[in-house]
Amino acid sequence: MARKPVRMCVRCQVTTEAPVVVATVHQNSGPGFTVYACRACAEHCPPQPDVLTALPPSQRSRGDQR
Ligand SMILES: [Zn+2]
Repeated sequence: MARKPVRMCVRCQVTTEAPVVVATVHQNSGPGFTVYACRACAEHCPPQPDVLTALPPSQRSRGDQR
């Protein structure tokens, strides 16, 4: 159990042992995924709110209407 949780930075493509979550992506099909950045890049990539779930219901184009 020596493996550390290493993630690849979305910005500089370098693996980091201290990943910072910068975004969570939801897809229509299949599970979403989390976007990580290294600490240096995270400063240039501030955490973003979940775009899809942040929209009020009236702005959702389709899918929720009955
Ligand atoms: Zn980086």
